[in-house]
Amino acid sequence: MEFAGFLGNSDLKQRLSASFSAGKMAHCYLICGPAGSGKRTLARILAAAMECGERNAPCGCCSDCRKTLDGCHPDVITIDEPEKKTVSVELIRQLQADAYVRPNEGPRKIYVIPRAQDMTDSAQNALLKLMEEPPAYVVFLLLTDNAEKLLPTVRSRCAELRLEPVGEREALPWLQRQFPQKDAQSVRAAWSRAGGFLGQAKDLLQGELQLPQTTQFAQAYAAGDRYGLTLLLCSMEKLPRDKLLEVLSQWKQLVADALLVRAGLPGGPEATALGQHRTAPALAVAANLIQQAMEHCTANLGAGHICGWLAVNL
Ligand SMILES: [Zn+2]
Repeated sequence: MEFAGFLGNSDLKQRLSASFSAGKMAHCYLICGPAGSGKRTLARILAAAMECGERNAPCGCCSDCRKTLDGCHPDVITIDEPEKKTVSVELIRQLQADAYVRPNEGPRKIYVIPRAQDMTDSAQNALLKLMEEPPAYVVFLLLTDNAEKLLPTVRSRCAELRLEPVGEREALPWLQRQFPQKDAQSVRAAWSRAGGFLGQAKDLLQGELQLPQTTQFAQAYAAGDRYGLTLLLCSMEKLPRDKLLEVLSQWKQLVADALLVRAGLPGGPEATALGQHRTAPALAVAANLIQQAMEHCTANLGAGHICGWLAVNL
């Protein structure tokens, strides 16, 4: 079995290859791993392997493979409503009804649930019923960053595939090929900060990964929640200075974006919320304070002092 584009995880690949050649694929896989660990990539490869009719499946060339890898195979169906917080029982009931309709093109019908941990309990129970007696052609691929949130009854029905970080020997050349303009040191730093998870490393290199402290700041600051902001800053007092600088630079960017929103330009959802709840002068003061805090960081002041100073002034 070929795993093009899915690095590391050699034990897991061996296990999958062996069960695939023995014709013993499971009907339900639970693919677990943190953000950026390759859950979707592996799901696409598995789905292609199961739809591909060639001997060396997934061949990557036939129309079933191409459609699956491009995300447009009619029998590989993603179950999600990304705009909603949970995956509802209604959505699973639609899946239930659809599962009894035979596949259109391929030999199997594959349901991918990318946020399995967000299924409500009733959604999970509805899915469980189907998992107990699925039509022979149905396969479920459940993806999650928190398998603990699934009911034990659901987990026990799944073959669990746990994704591991990718070691530097394999990861660094691959990342360098993706980002030829970055120097080796930045690539290595991103790989290390991402804990070896390549999706996260790519996001870091693209400067897109929002840190959890930034999400919390956006919420607390938009809501005028001083207590929440103080708690957040207290939790940051032990951060190494370079990490604190990284957090603050995201905050500064967010506040700058919110100022642009106030000026009538479009922005992301968090910048828009900030722009709606805070006046332009207040945002300008905040931007200035964060800038000063960043300068304190580079002037070697301790993170505890800087966070305390921000908690008082912000
Ligand atoms: Zn193929």
